Amino acid sequence: MADIALECSCGKVKGKAHNISPATGRRVICYCEDCQNFAKKIGRADDMLNAHGGTDIFQITPSQVEITKGMDQLRYLKLSEKGIYRWYTNCRQTPAGNMVGPQIPFIGIAHNFMACGNDRDKILGPVRYSIMEKGARKPDDKTKTMPTAEKSANKFPFSLIIKIFVRLFIDKIRGKNRPNTFFKPDGTPISE
Ligand SMILES: [Zn+2]
Ligand SMILES: [Zn+2]
Repeated sequence: MADIALECSCGKVKGKAHNISPATGRRVICYCEDCQNFAKKIGRADDMLNAHGGTDIFQITPSQVEITKGMDQLRYLKLSEKGIYRWYTNCRQTPAGNMVGPQIPFIGIAHNFMACGNDRDKILGPVRYSIMEKGARKPDDKTKTMPTAEKSANKFPFSLIIKIFVRLFIDKIRGKNRPNTFFKPDGTPISE
Protein backbone atom coordinates (compact mmCIF):
# COMPACT_ATOMS: atom_id res chain seq x y z
CA MET A 1 0.00 0.00 0.00
CA ALA A 2 1.20 3.44 -0.85
CA ASP A 3 0.47 7.07 -0.16
CA ILE A 4 -0.19 8.79 -3.46
CA ALA A 5 0.23 12.53 -3.94
CA LEU A 6 -2.85 14.51 -4.84
CA GLU A 7 -2.20 17.65 -6.80
CA CYS A 8 -4.12 20.11 -8.97
CA SER A 9 -2.70 21.17 -12.32
CA CYS A 10 -1.10 24.37 -11.01
CA GLY A 11 0.17 23.00 -7.70
CA LYS A 12 -1.82 25.33 -5.42
CA VAL A 13 -3.80 22.43 -3.99
CA LYS A 14 -1.88 19.47 -2.63
CA GLY A 15 -2.67 16.48 -0.54
CA LYS A 16 -2.33 12.77 -0.08
CA ALA A 17 -4.39 9.69 -0.69
CA HIS A 18 -3.46 7.19 2.00
CA ASN A 19 -3.20 3.40 1.86
CA ILE A 20 -3.73 3.13 -1.86
CA SER A 21 -3.63 -0.24 -3.59
CA PRO A 22 -5.87 -2.14 -5.99
CA ALA A 23 -7.47 -3.71 -2.90
CA THR A 24 -8.23 -0.50 -1.00
CA GLY A 25 -10.20 1.18 -3.78
CA ARG A 26 -12.07 0.45 -6.97
CA ARG A 27 -11.04 1.73 -10.37
CA VAL A 28 -14.00 2.60 -12.58
CA ILE A 29 -14.40 4.41 -15.88
CA CYS A 30 -17.71 6.26 -16.12
CA TYR A 31 -19.20 7.39 -19.41
CA CYS A 32 -22.34 9.06 -18.04
CA GLU A 33 -23.67 12.38 -19.32
CA ASP A 34 -23.20 14.06 -15.94
CA CYS A 35 -19.50 13.26 -15.72
CA GLN A 36 -19.07 14.58 -19.26
CA ASN A 37 -21.10 17.73 -18.53
CA PHE A 38 -19.09 18.37 -15.40
CA ALA A 39 -15.81 18.08 -17.34
CA LYS A 40 -17.14 20.57 -19.90
CA LYS A 41 -18.42 22.96 -17.24
CA ILE A 42 -15.02 23.24 -15.59
CA GLY A 43 -13.32 23.40 -18.98
CA ARG A 44 -11.37 20.18 -18.57
CA ALA A 45 -13.08 17.90 -21.09
CA ASP A 46 -9.82 17.70 -23.05
CA ASP A 47 -7.75 16.03 -20.38
CA MET A 48 -10.33 14.66 -17.98
CA LEU A 49 -12.22 12.53 -20.49
CA ASN A 50 -10.78 9.78 -22.63
CA ALA A 51 -11.41 9.70 -26.38
CA HIS A 52 -14.81 8.09 -25.76
CA GLY A 53 -15.92 10.55 -23.08
CA GLY A 54 -15.07 8.38 -20.08
CA THR A 55 -13.60 9.51 -16.76
CA ASP A 56 -11.08 7.25 -15.03
CA ILE A 57 -12.00 7.34 -11.34
CA PHE A 58 -10.60 5.65 -8.24
CA GLN A 59 -13.23 5.09 -5.54
CA ILE A 60 -11.99 5.27 -1.96
CA THR A 61 -13.21 6.58 1.42
CA PRO A 62 -12.97 10.20 2.60
CA SER A 63 -10.81 9.07 5.55
CA GLN A 64 -8.10 8.14 3.03
CA VAL A 65 -7.99 11.69 1.65
CA GLU A 66 -5.98 14.50 3.17
CA ILE A 67 -5.61 17.98 1.70
CA THR A 68 -2.44 19.59 2.98
CA LYS A 69 -2.38 22.81 0.98
CA GLY A 70 -4.84 25.12 -0.77
CA MET A 71 -8.05 24.11 1.02
CA ASP A 72 -9.47 27.56 0.22
CA GLN A 73 -9.37 26.68 -3.48
CA LEU A 74 -11.85 23.83 -3.20
CA ARG A 75 -15.29 24.36 -4.76
CA TYR A 76 -18.11 22.05 -5.66
CA LEU A 77 -20.77 21.79 -8.29
CA LYS A 78 -24.06 19.91 -8.17
CA LEU A 79 -25.57 19.29 -11.56
CA SER A 80 -29.01 18.79 -10.01
CA GLU A 81 -30.69 19.32 -6.66
CA LYS A 82 -30.15 15.70 -5.62
CA GLY A 83 -26.92 15.32 -7.56
CA ILE A 84 -23.61 14.33 -6.08
CA TYR A 85 -21.05 16.86 -4.88
CA ARG A 86 -18.44 17.27 -7.60
CA TRP A 87 -15.43 18.92 -6.05
CA TYR A 88 -12.89 20.80 -8.13
CA THR A 89 -10.21 23.40 -7.55
CA ASN A 90 -10.88 27.04 -8.28
CA CYS A 91 -7.28 27.78 -9.31
CA ARG A 92 -7.18 25.88 -12.55
CA GLN A 93 -10.34 23.86 -12.43
CA THR A 94 -8.88 20.48 -11.62
CA PRO A 95 -11.52 17.87 -10.74
CA ALA A 96 -10.84 16.77 -7.16
CA GLY A 97 -13.46 14.22 -6.13
CA ASN A 98 -17.10 13.14 -6.35
CA MET A 99 -19.00 12.63 -3.12
CA VAL A 100 -22.55 11.60 -2.28
CA GLY A 101 -22.64 13.58 0.97
CA PRO A 102 -20.98 14.10 4.35
CA GLN A 103 -22.38 10.94 5.95
CA ILE A 104 -21.50 8.56 3.13
CA PRO A 105 -17.99 7.05 3.23
CA PHE A 106 -17.42 7.39 -0.50
CA ILE A 107 -15.28 9.56 -2.74
CA GLY A 108 -14.37 9.04 -6.39
CA ILE A 109 -11.09 10.71 -7.29
CA ALA A 110 -10.67 11.64 -10.95
CA HIS A 111 -7.36 10.63 -12.48
CA ASN A 112 -6.28 14.27 -13.03
CA PHE A 113 -5.95 14.83 -9.29
CA MET A 114 -3.86 11.73 -8.53
CA ALA A 115 -0.18 11.98 -9.29
CA CYS A 116 0.38 8.39 -10.39
CA GLY A 117 2.36 9.35 -13.48
CA ASN A 118 2.68 6.41 -15.81
CA ASP A 119 2.24 3.95 -12.98
CA ARG A 120 -1.54 4.24 -12.75
CA ASP A 121 -2.10 0.63 -13.80
CA LYS A 122 0.57 -0.60 -11.41
CA ILE A 123 -0.62 1.44 -8.39
CA LEU A 124 -4.40 1.25 -8.84
CA GLY A 125 -4.65 -1.99 -10.73
CA PRO A 126 -6.77 -2.64 -13.83
CA VAL A 127 -10.10 -0.96 -14.56
CA ARG A 128 -12.66 -3.11 -12.73
CA TYR A 129 -15.77 -1.59 -14.23
CA SER A 130 -16.50 0.39 -17.36
CA ILE A 131 -19.99 1.78 -16.76
CA MET A 132 -22.73 3.85 -18.40
CA GLU A 133 -21.28 2.95 -21.76
CA LYS A 134 -24.52 4.03 -23.41
CA GLY A 135 -23.18 7.57 -22.86
CA ALA A 136 -19.88 6.83 -24.61
CA ARG A 137 -19.27 8.83 -27.77
CA LYS A 138 -17.50 7.91 -30.97
CA PRO A 139 -13.96 9.27 -30.93
CA ASP A 140 -12.76 11.65 -33.65
CA ASP A 141 -9.66 9.51 -33.82
CA LYS A 142 -10.97 6.11 -34.91
CA THR A 143 -7.77 4.37 -33.88
CA LYS A 144 -8.57 5.05 -30.21
CA THR A 145 -10.19 1.92 -28.86
CA MET A 146 -12.16 1.91 -25.65
CA PRO A 147 -10.01 1.00 -22.61
CA THR A 148 -10.60 -2.55 -21.50
CA ALA A 149 -12.21 -3.36 -18.17
CA GLU A 150 -12.91 -6.53 -16.23
CA LYS A 151 -16.65 -5.79 -16.56
CA SER A 152 -18.46 -3.51 -18.97
CA ALA A 153 -22.02 -2.29 -18.78
CA ASN A 154 -24.34 0.01 -20.67
CA LYS A 155 -25.82 1.29 -17.44
CA PHE A 156 -24.84 1.24 -13.79
CA PRO A 157 -24.57 -2.54 -13.21
CA PHE A 158 -26.46 -4.11 -10.33
CA SER A 159 -23.38 -6.10 -9.27
CA LEU A 160 -21.48 -2.85 -8.79
CA ILE A 161 -24.32 -1.28 -6.82
CA ILE A 162 -24.28 -4.30 -4.48
CA LYS A 163 -20.49 -4.11 -4.14
CA ILE A 164 -20.64 -0.39 -3.37
CA PHE A 165 -23.42 -0.84 -0.80
CA VAL A 166 -21.65 -3.67 1.00
CA ARG A 167 -18.48 -1.62 1.11
CA LEU A 168 -20.38 1.51 2.23
CA PHE A 169 -22.04 -0.45 5.01
CA ILE A 170 -18.73 -1.80 6.32
CA ASP A 171 -16.94 1.53 5.93
CA LYS A 172 -19.79 3.37 7.63
CA ILE A 173 -19.54 1.10 10.67
CA ARG A 174 -15.80 1.69 10.71
CA GLY A 175 -16.45 5.46 10.50
CA LYS A 176 -14.54 5.92 7.27
CA ASN A 177 -16.51 9.04 6.36
CA ARG A 178 -14.35 10.81 8.98
CA PRO A 179 -12.11 12.67 8.99
CA ASN A 180 -13.66 14.37 6.02
CA THR A 181 -11.73 17.16 4.35
CA PHE A 182 -14.65 18.37 2.29
CA PHE A 183 -17.35 18.81 4.93
CA LYS A 184 -17.42 20.55 8.29
CA PRO A 185 -18.33 18.45 11.35
CA ASP A 186 -21.93 19.72 11.11
CA GLY A 187 -22.18 18.28 7.59
CA THR A 188 -22.09 21.51 5.61
CA PRO A 189 -19.63 21.72 2.71
CA ILE A 190 -16.42 23.67 3.41
CA SER A 191 -17.13 25.86 0.39
CA GLU A 192 -20.26 27.62 -0.87
ZN1 LIG B 1 -4.53 24.58 -9.10
ZN1 LIG C 1 -20.47 9.41 -14.47
